[in-house]
This record gives sequence, structure tokens and C-alpha cells, in this order.
Amino acid sequence: MTLLGGDDPVFSWPDGIRAAASFTFDVDAESCVLAHDPGAAKRMSLMSHQSYGPLVAVPKILSILARQDIRATFFVPGFTAECHPDVVQAIVDGGHEIGHHGYLHEQMQGIDRETEARYLDRGLEALHRVAGVVPVGYRAPWWEMNYQTPGLLVERGFRYDSSLLDGDAPYRFAVEPGSAESLIEIPVDWALDDWEQYAFYPGWTGSGVIESPSKAREMWQLEADAQHAQGGCWVLTNHPFISGRPSRAHALEQLIEGVKALDGMWVTTLEEIAEHAANVTKVVRTHTRYEVPTFPDAPILQDGTPVGGASRARETATLG
Ligand SMILES: [Zn+2]
Repeated sequence: MTLLGGDDPVFSWPDGIRAAASFTFDVDAESCVLAHDPGAAKRMSLMSHQSYGPLVAVPKILSILARQDIRATFFVPGFTAECHPDVVQAIVDGGHEIGHHGYLHEQMQGIDRETEARYLDRGLEALHRVAGVVPVGYRAPWWEMNYQTPGLLVERGFRYDSSLLDGDAPYRFAVEPGSAESLIEIPVDWALDDWEQYAFYPGWTGSGVIESPSKAREMWQLEADAQHAQGGCWVLTNHPFISGRPSRAHALEQLIEGVKALDGMWVTTLEEIAEHAANVTKVVRTHTRYEVPTFPDAPILQDGTPVGGASRARETATLG
């Protein structure tokens, strides 16, 4: 087994490149709140909080990206594309990548293969109809991949995913244990997501704490510095309706300047990173599906589960 980490550079980048960085924007807009609670459609103020993304924030972010002369990856739910076709077209016209992000940013946990396939296909159809886009990249809504997802993605021609959290750099993984088919993964991390710093709406989401943009910029820059030092891949996830507010957008532009200033840092789309990774990454990883341990001789609880591993795991899952 190859252990990851240690002192060696964590990835093999093109000549002259030390590490990579990608600014990614999940254009959840109205879709994520409607998927979470269809009743939110009646809440005018909440919906306006979401609409701020495509109406105000995306144009602002596109200006920042143009001024900084970098390309980014925008993950767009199909419903967002249908509601805001001009915005999606402006992203395409800006030279940026569009990735798949569900149709209505659906809840993915526990759904069956057929249901998940329907979400994928409806999202693909919407992006193609609205903007003529056939995405090669996928990011699961809520970063919630299922073990069946990779196979569904390969069947539909996707080349990479960016929803898993188990790496400092891109890697190749088998879509099923033993399968010859594989996908490139470009990992993400909650510490590099604006939701945890800024997201707040009473009765819907947020910790109740809205952090200072200078604090968010500092922690994201520190992570970029560390990834640059070890030759890794830094992926920032921002949501326009969150990070497009004035002081946050200003801090984002300062962060872009800071990341670009790192010597040999390749600031580009996930598609370009995935394309390079597909050429140089030959080792294929397999994701282990864990069985929850049980104790065969343990007493059986009233609900039929044995005392020990299974019941503990279930308690933990309820808390998490
Ligand atoms: Zn999302």
C-alpha cells in the first residue's frame, strides 16, 4: 500500500509549475434552498437572499476574474441555468468552465441509482439546452457523493469529480472496486469553503457567526501558502450569494492577488488540472466501503441491533 504524505512533493506538475490553485464557484442560487425545503418558495426575503447570487454577485465576480486575468470553474445546477440563462451565458462568454452540480441541488444521501441518474440527466439536459454546455466535471450537491455516483459519471462521459475530501492533490480512483474504469478526483475541504465562514439565514442555515472577510482571507491564504510549499492543489469553494457581498468580494480579489503572487502557482480551472492529472496519474486508488463492526456474542437490543459497534455508529451518525 502506498502511503500518502511525507516529504516528497505530493504531485507531479508540468515543468515550471510548483503547485496548482483553482477558484471555484457553486452557483446554488435558489436551487439549494428549494431542495432543502420546498416551502421556502413562499419566503420572499429568503429567496431574495439566494437571488443576490446570480443577479448581483456573479457579474461582480466575473469582473474580478477578468481584471485578475484568471479563469475559474462554476458549478451550476440545471435549475439555476433555467432561471438565469443570461448569467450562465455570461460565465461561458467570460471563458470560464461550467461544471455539473445536480438539477435542483438535490439531497443525495441514501438515494437509489435510478433516482441519482435522473438528477444527473436532467442537469445535463438543462446545461446543454441553456448554454450549449457539455460539462466534463461534477461536484455533488452538498459534496455528498454516493458509492454509486462515480460509475454514473463515467457512463455519462464525465472526466473528473470535485466532491471528496481525502487528498492534498488530484488522484485517479476506480469507479467500483476491481473496475477498469476510473475517474480523476480533485479533492475539496470544508476549511476552504465560504459557507462555514459566512453563511447565515435565520431558520435555514448558518452557525450564527458571520466571520470577518479578513479572517477568511487569512486562513485561505495560509492554506494556499502551505499547498504551494508542498506542491499540492488548492481548491477554494465559494458561493456567489455568500462571497459576492461587497467586503467579501473585495477580500476575494485580494486573495486572488496573493495566490497568483506565489512563484510557480498555476491558477486555472479544474478541467485543466484534471486534464493534466489524467496524463500523469497512473496509480488507481479504490475507496473502501466499510462494514460497521458488530460483536456477535453481544446482547441484542429491543430494536434488534446488537450492543456495540452498530448501535454506537448509529448514534454518531445521528449527531453528525
Ligand atoms: Zn452547492
